[in-house]
Amino acid sequence: MIMENKELVKSYGLKATPTRLSVLAALQKYSKPVSVFDILKNLNKNTDQTTVYRILNVFVEKGMIKKIDLKKDFSFFEINEGKHHHHLVCQSCSKIKEIESCDISAIEKQVLKKSGFKSIDEHALEFYGLCENCA
Ligand SMILES: [Zn+2]
Ligand SMILES: [Zn+2]
Repeated sequence: MIMENKELVKSYGLKATPTRLSVLAALQKYSKPVSVFDILKNLNKNTDQTTVYRILNVFVEKGMIKKIDLKKDFSFFEINEGKHHHHLVCQSCSKIKEIESCDISAIEKQVLKKSGFKSIDEHALEFYGLCENCA
């Protein structure tokens, strides 16, 4: 059973305000990382960018969504589905593809050995190239 958004927001210890719910609904419309501008397109005109950023940051803090850096002047956000993955970004048209496989445990072992760190808890790794349309 799919949890209702109201319940979902509450399950993260947040009040389910109308604006938070519409930001969440906007994020759910896309199956890829989106910018604050994509989200604003889906909200009513009275909601400003600062408000949306504030909400997004609260969602990130609570672990409900993830913030992704894709080498642009702004951040991207996506629903945290608990599935570790990476992204491949077209440098020409900005198309984003999800990459599900992650096989970098060998690199992590090497990094641990060389750095003397006791653990590596997470990593972020994105790939950049040209898609079939832009190549
Ligand atoms: Zn492209
Ligand atoms: Zn990975």
